[in-house]
Amino acid sequence: MAVKAIDTDVLVIGGGGAGLRASIEARRQGVEVLLASKTLAGLASCSIFSGGAFTAAFGTMTKENHFRTTITTGKLINDQGLVEVLVDEAVSRLLELREFGVKLSIGDGSCRVVDCSFPMQGAGLIHPLVKYARSIGVKMLENTMITDLLSNGTANGAVGFNVLSGERVAIGAKAVVLATGGASQIYRRNDNPVRMTGDGYVMAYELGLPLIDMEFVQCLPTGTAEPGYPMFMLLIPLAILELGVLQNIKGEDIVRKHGLNPKLVYSTHRDVWTNTIAKEIYEGRGEGDTILLNLAKLPESLQKHPFIQSLSELLKGFPLLEKPVHVTPLAHTFIGGIQINENCETALPGLFAAGEATGGVHGANRVGGSALTECVVFGARSGKCAAEKAKTTPKKTVDERQVEQKLERVDEVVGREASSMGSPELVRSRIQEIMWGKAGVIRSQQSLIEAKEALTQLREERLPRVYGKKPHEAMEALEATNLLLVASLVVEAALTRTESRGVHYRIDYPDPDDKNWLQHIMLTKKFEGIGVETRPVKITKLSPS
Ligand SMILES: Cc1cc2nc3c(=O)[nH]c(=O)nc-3n(C[C@H](O)[C@H](O)[C@H](O)COP(=O)(O)OP(=O)(O)OC[C@H]3O[C@@H](n4cnc5c(N)ncnc54)[C@H](O)[C@@H]3O)c2cc1C
Repeated sequence: MAVKAIDTDVLVIGGGGAGLRASIEARRQGVEVLLASKTLAGLASCSIFSGGAFTAAFGTMTKENHFRTTITTGKLINDQGLVEVLVDEAVSRLLELREFGVKLSIGDGSCRVVDCSFPMQGAGLIHPLVKYARSIGVKMLENTMITDLLSNGTANGAVGFNVLSGERVAIGAKAVVLATGGASQIYRRNDNPVRMTGDGYVMAYELGLPLIDMEFVQCLPTGTAEPGYPMFMLLIPLAILELGVLQNIKGEDIVRKHGLNPKLVYSTHRDVWTNTIAKEIYEGRGEGDTILLNLAKLPESLQKHPFIQSLSELLKGFPLLEKPVHVTPLAHTFIGGIQINENCETALPGLFAAGEATGGVHGANRVGGSALTECVVFGARSGKCAAEKAKTTPKKTVDERQVEQKLERVDEVVGREASSMGSPELVRSRIQEIMWGKAGVIRSQQSLIEAKEALTQLREERLPRVYGKKPHEAMEALEATNLLLVASLVVEAALTRTESRGVHYRIDYPDPDDKNWLQHIMLTKKFEGIGVETRPVKITKLSPS
């Protein structure tokens, strides 16, 4: 099939908050920018489905507090150099969003976008950024799945295909920014859009670049798990949480039973809440893999609360005030990812990365509202640094043989016969079952080894058959393939970390072990499989007490 050749100075892969912010900044430096996105720019991203809340040193929160909170919440596994950048630049980068048409309301220690409602509050960020990016001349390559990066010792472009027409593309670029988001779709219970399949992790890994902290996947403690209804994160308001509405199957109030602090549930203590709820379920006091949100005794004064109204919209027809709703932790954000330095450089010259595709900022547990702040701060940095790199890099020719070879991955899935064994949908759901059952919130050596074996079996039996005849199906096939690799990476890192820390909860090693584990786990592709190394965390300011 003919391949369309495209040239640009900076190629940004990903149309969420990080990719859009990177594109705008690169363009403002005066270079040509092309933004590639699997869907229309901004859609099907976590950013658009987000709550639109950012944490930063507004009001009484000082930069020092912000730094300390990020590190203590991250259980000291954060790269402190990256956190210094986050904290230093957050306020100015957030206020600058107003120049791009984003409307913000500023609170104490946070700000949020206004005028957008659940479940797409992030639209208040994403729609203005898309509009602004277009207005300053960022070119969009939409509905295009990038499948591989091109490199000749430095990053010089990428290949992919249009998921509607099937047309293949080869993009030559002087610098590339990966902003492909996370991969919470490896889990059966998750609140991410379906396209969040860790494609960027796979592209970086395949080039031999290190991934950091992949064992840390943050779950939100409460999400809908009512059969027949969609999964959504639930941010249950304090006034309702305090009423003892979260119950196990014995009707016990989980919050009171474990002395959980409702004020911290969605900010710094997501790990504690999630792990506690998961343990209730693990010890047999759940219903299946859920607990109950029992609103039967909700006082009349709270029955019209906006949360209750949104919930009845989401669970249309469900008798909310009469019957308990099944709720459970949901996979929410990847904390680990591609390793970067303060300038968003990866280990491959010319390749930059930002947003949820990267690791290191949040450590072992993320502060609520800090992922979007990260996107804005590091998105801008990656765009600026990529543009600077592009300005000093002569135009590079794309190696046609490399293009052809990289696109074989697409041709292969298109060329395969359809079979139930190779159905991308079935492969994805099998990965999700394995991961949620054996490598979800609660992990152990045994469950992780079982996960590894089940994934290996899937790889051997199903992967060679995964097919996708039509362009859209080819995308799903490649996504299933990517999910399988990402799942294996998470399992490998989780097996290696023989302690519990933040969102990584090993029931066989229930305590943190600072003596041995103030370390990052780094994964790289080796000839024999996944290479695992450890590296001490970078401490610039805050040492373990
Ligand atoms: C329901 C929900 C609510 C949240 N609320 C908040 C909040 O209020 N505050 C906060 O700080 N964080 C929140 N988060 C987390 C935060 O939204 C994400 O971490 C952040 O938006 C990630 O932004 P990103 O740009 O890195 O990735 P995304 O916004 O996920 O964008 C990734 C982009 O990459 C594209 N892409 C992926 N692979 C490819 C490929 N192969 N080729 C081309 N394009 C590709 C996708 O199509 C998408 O456009 C929330 C997350 C969820 C799921």
